[in-house]
Amino acid sequence: MTQGHPIVPVPVRLALVVVVGMVVVIVLFRLVCAVVVAFRDRPSDECDRLPDGWAVPLEAPLPVQEARVETAAELIQRIRAVDWFQFEQLVAVVYGRLGYAVARRGGARPDGGIDLVVESNGEAVAVQCKHWKTWNVGVKAVRELLGALTDAGIGKGALVMLGGYTGEAKRLADKHGIQIVNESGLTRMLEEIQAARDPEVLAILSDERKICPRCEAPMLLRTAAKGPTAGRRFWGCSTYPRCRFTMRAE
Ligand SMILES: [Zn+2]
Repeated sequence: MTQGHPIVPVPVRLALVVVVGMVVVIVLFRLVCAVVVAFRDRPSDECDRLPDGWAVPLEAPLPVQEARVETAAELIQRIRAVDWFQFEQLVAVVYGRLGYAVARRGGARPDGGIDLVVESNGEAVAVQCKHWKTWNVGVKAVRELLGALTDAGIGKGALVMLGGYTGEAKRLADKHGIQIVNESGLTRMLEEIQAARDPEVLAILSDERKICPRCEAPMLLRTAAKGPTAGRRFWGCSTYPRCRFTMRAE
């Protein structure tokens, strides 16, 4: 050895690796704990009453509000702003207007990944709604729908989405006859049913309720009372402590 490196004996090096490894494990563990504690924060009592209009049962028709939109493109903008629950309702209305008999299967308790079963001329199509705006629908989502189709004994499927999809997802979908309805496909359907003038569509788009994806109760904007996120606003299920679902307020 002519280099300037000091020769470190093998056992010392091993010990160093073990120590560094342990430090990494401890740091990761502390991080996970911090996240868990943040999600367990007890909400304050500040919002224990539902805001006006939020107590409407989910099945009840919503009051129509002045929410005129002129074009399908404007409609899409509004659709991108609604929550998962309203998106699923909207897709159900669209298929209904196109002449399908629509049965809801999904929501907070998805029936094997199927949100809606739509039927026309004796042929059923299992529909899954993907209200993702920021990431692509991948091959995993198609595989899940394929599994759900087999389970339910339904031959045809459709994925209705607002975002994009991967090439692999498209190839698998094509191979198994799963229709991908992306934003432009949805726009065409909206135009066909003249959705921009449809009171039911407009009522859904005016519905600002945020629904718990775990139990379908309304969610409330709350403030964390203690813990590392104290003072921060978050969405919490209105049935707390029965359902402890929370999500970040944007
Ligand atoms: Zn809930």
